[in-house]
Amino acid sequence: MSAPVSIIDLESWHCRRVVQEAPALYCGQPKAFGTSWCEACCAKVYSREGLERIKFAAAHPRKLERVA
Ligand SMILES: [Zn+2]
Repeated sequence: MSAPVSIIDLESWHCRRVVQEAPALYCGQPKAFGTSWCEACCAKVYSREGLERIKFAAAHPRKLERVA
């Protein structure tokens, strides 16, 4: 488990959820399910149904492509 990161240290794979403001600190855990957030933050950002959907989409990218 890594500590929150500042905007200067933020990498493309870091979770984008702001955990502290002024100065801004971002969650910094690895992104999950093809979103901009880590698994823990996805659970907070998405509803239970939304979380199930993105987990399914991450596990079955082609099936969703065909639907869309
Ligand atoms: Zn996070």
